[in-house]
Amino acid sequence: MFTRKDLQELLEYKAPTSMLSVYLNTEPVEGGAETHRLRLRSLLKEVALHEDIQVIERFFDHEFDWSGRSAAVFSCAQDDYFQAYSIQIPVRSRVRVGERPHVKPLVDMLDSYGGYGVALVDKQGARLFYFHMGELREQEGIMGESVRRTKRGGGSAAQGRRGGAAGQTNHVEEVAERNIKEAVDFSARFFAENNVRRILLGGTEDNLAIFRAQLPKAWQSLVVGSFPMSMTATHNEVLERAMQVGRDAERKREIKLVEAAITGAAKGRGGVIRLDDTLSAVHEGRVHTLLILDGFRAPGRRCQGCGYVTTQSMEACVFCGNKFEQIPDAVEMAVRKVMQTGGEVEVLHDDQVLSKHGNIGALLRY
Ligand SMILES: [Zn+2]
Repeated sequence: MFTRKDLQELLEYKAPTSMLSVYLNTEPVEGGAETHRLRLRSLLKEVALHEDIQVIERFFDHEFDWSGRSAAVFSCAQDDYFQAYSIQIPVRSRVRVGERPHVKPLVDMLDSYGGYGVALVDKQGARLFYFHMGELREQEGIMGESVRRTKRGGGSAAQGRRGGAAGQTNHVEEVAERNIKEAVDFSARFFAENNVRRILLGGTEDNLAIFRAQLPKAWQSLVVGSFPMSMTATHNEVLERAMQVGRDAERKREIKLVEAAITGAAKGRGGVIRLDDTLSAVHEGRVHTLLILDGFRAPGRRCQGCGYVTTQSMEACVFCGNKFEQIPDAVEMAVRKVMQTGGEVEVLHDDQVLSKHGNIGALLRY
């Protein structure tokens, strides 16, 4: 499983000269191991790092178990550096040679599929799931006092108010409320232990309303969606549902981020759009959240003194006066810088609005 800690480690690595990063789609439906090995070979044809190619081919020949839907592999044979991750999310196959691991696809996947907590809630308890990168990592459950037994006599709350079973109905509600309170405490602990970054709730509207109202504010703010679901659902049903709701919620959140960047840029405060303004903000360490359209790349120039990246042609760096060198992808450089300085990177898919504003932008810290 690939975690944010793994990402940090990749970000910290720098090869003595150059290294090889490989993303390979290994989906079983796309063919067997032999098909994927052939595709890998053809991807590596243009690459000149022969030692790394050997290491990576050896890995896919002898060590990789082909159970994942894709693999991310990073090699610098010269430095005896090797990292490989099997991932349960399909990826676009690609190779990249550079000084550092090519992390953007992994950033993208963590962004869309990382750190989901799901709580299925009813009057009696909760089932909790932690999904990360398309995999079920943890699941736990809590069952409170049975409410069904007392319900049998009392019936629904409406009947209770009409008939003589009001006392019993109150008891049912009390038990349910107590159970939900316990479930909330249990859930908060589960979410904290698993470092969830977003929460989905499953159950009836009534139960979820009570659950949500009791959830501490910090966790409430992470709730990105809810859906009706039975307590007896399989974990695959929950995963499927969670991924869908998660994608929808992410999409809405992304639209808001893009709007905020555009508004900020127009006001000259809090946001920038288009590549050069974004690169300047990145260089100044002002980027809180970098927004990029998936697949956007642009060649650029990097200052050999301070590392400032721009697409503009200038004799000397405006920050330090040094000379520039050509770099193949200014966007990748921006992603790296933002991640290293603790900012967030959002890779947007098919965002019409951002594509009209230069494919890139950012929300700023100040
Ligand atoms: Zn400079």
